[in-house]
Amino acid sequence: MNIQVPFLDLKTQYLSIQTEINDAIHKVLLSSQFILGQEVESFEAEFAGYCDSSEAVAVNSGTSALHLALLAAGVKPGDEVITVPFTFVATVAAIEYTGATPVFVDIDQSSYTIQVEQIESAITEKTKAIVPVHLYGQSADMDAILATARKHNLIVIEDAAQAHGATYKGHKVGSLGDIGCFSFYPGKNLGAYGEGGIAVTNDPSFAEKMRILRNWGQRQRYYHSERGFNYRMDGLQGAILRVKLKYIDKWTEQRCRVAKQYDDYLGNLGILVPKVMPYSSHVYHIYALRVFDRASLQTLLQSKGIQTGIHYPIPVHLQEGYRDRRQTKNEFPNSEIAANEVLSLPIYPEMTQEQVCTVCKAVEEGIQYVKRK
Ligand SMILES: *Cc1c(COP(=O)(O)O)cnc(C)c1O
Repeated sequence: MNIQVPFLDLKTQYLSIQTEINDAIHKVLLSSQFILGQEVESFEAEFAGYCDSSEAVAVNSGTSALHLALLAAGVKPGDEVITVPFTFVATVAAIEYTGATPVFVDIDQSSYTIQVEQIESAITEKTKAIVPVHLYGQSADMDAILATARKHNLIVIEDAAQAHGATYKGHKVGSLGDIGCFSFYPGKNLGAYGEGGIAVTNDPSFAEKMRILRNWGQRQRYYHSERGFNYRMDGLQGAILRVKLKYIDKWTEQRCRVAKQYDDYLGNLGILVPKVMPYSSHVYHIYALRVFDRASLQTLLQSKGIQTGIHYPIPVHLQEGYRDRRQTKNEFPNSEIAANEVLSLPIYPEMTQEQVCTVCKAVEEGIQYVKRK
């Protein structure tokens, strides 16, 4: 079966900015600044400005950004860090890279973000930080999280890898907690042409610490004041991201237009569509439906050439590779139910109304077929 509607279309986006991108790449090739350099510095300043933060530290992935943020916050072996099990595995992996123990709190059923009422009971004397995840492109309930964190003297590190430009009560995510981490994996709302990530903060001492750690723990070349990492961003990615950052708000608007078209059609059929919380704007990195017989619907859409995804089929606490962290089943019921029922529809800025319509009709047909079964 030919693909009628792909899950994502990075080529069409490239073609829409081809000349600018090619020029930016050419400039880096001529400058030979392949690691960090002027383009990365300029991108850091521009992205910090975009997030209303004073500092940004560009790195080689979102995972590295999370790892450095945790280290800058002083998280060390023996500490506990609170996060959710219903996330991309990188959130949990970054916590473990520091030697700390991830402690899970379930998600809220309608926002898919951390259940704020449950945080307090997960805090122990070892707790050092909270890592809320702005899943799918919508902010977690930050006021409640920050109030709990302040009360217990905890650092808040936002995992904003899926939420570039999303706002909480009018303020940009990433700048709400102590440090905010973003990914520029190609499929993210702002995607590099390779790996990339960034950490933003308003605290110059956190920024300084992350700058040193990303570059082998050196302030001066070959003088290693501490043990660091090779987490630097490429010059090419910096130059490419500078071009793409100019379009992010337009692309977000286009994602919202697609989401609205889905909401209007599918919401009217009684299908559970994403809920936008009153405190948040949504940038629709993922548009996830809730369906009972997900496998049948996915297979039917597949047969019509419509690609879908599942974000994520297994919460981290039940993953095979994390079996030593496995808590009892049913311990995080909202995460486990969501993992069984979510189905992500294609969404990207370049999607045409016609493509959205094709998906809507196929979902409608699929739901009726599933009901009849
Ligand atoms: C993509 C993602 C990451 C990791 O980013 P990489 O750039 O792939 O390392 C972390 N957390 C979440 C929620 C993500 O979606």
